Amino acid sequence: MNNEDQAQAFELDEYERIQRRTIMTLPVAHSAKYCTDTSCGDEIPEARRAAIPGVLFCTHCQQRREQQKLMRL
Ligand SMILES: [Zn+2]
Repeated sequence: MNNEDQAQAFELDEYERIQRRTIMTLPVAHSAKYCTDTSCGDEIPEARRAAIPGVLFCTHCQQRREQQKLMRL
């Protein structure tokens, strides 16, 4: 491993740390209050918004999207 590699590894490590800190401190307000699926719009429960910062879909739509993603693979 040369110096450049080490510097890059350090940068990645630092980046990851910042990312993790950002996720931890992200206010719940960044999560959508209502499901952003155009055909849904259901209210996303407070517990779900707190558990998944930045959540955009209700449980139902999230599951449907994940299933669609799997089907495409
Ligand atoms: Zn929904």
